[in-house]
Amino acid sequence: MATKIPVAQARLFANRFVCKKCGHKMRTQATRILSGKIRCRKCNSNALRSIRRK
Ligand SMILES: [Zn+2]
Repeated sequence: MATKIPVAQARLFANRFVCKKCGHKMRTQATRILSGKIRCRKCNSNALRSIRRK
């Protein structure tokens, strides 16, 4: 992406996470990820990453 619009990026990526194992995307809050309460609905893994990072 050429243009960086922080507000738009925050809205698009802030609460999206991807399962490291199966790539399933889900929307939840970062605090819940950090507390380890969230598991992937598909493969039951709790290895999640933010969608932004590569
Ligand atoms: Zn998964």
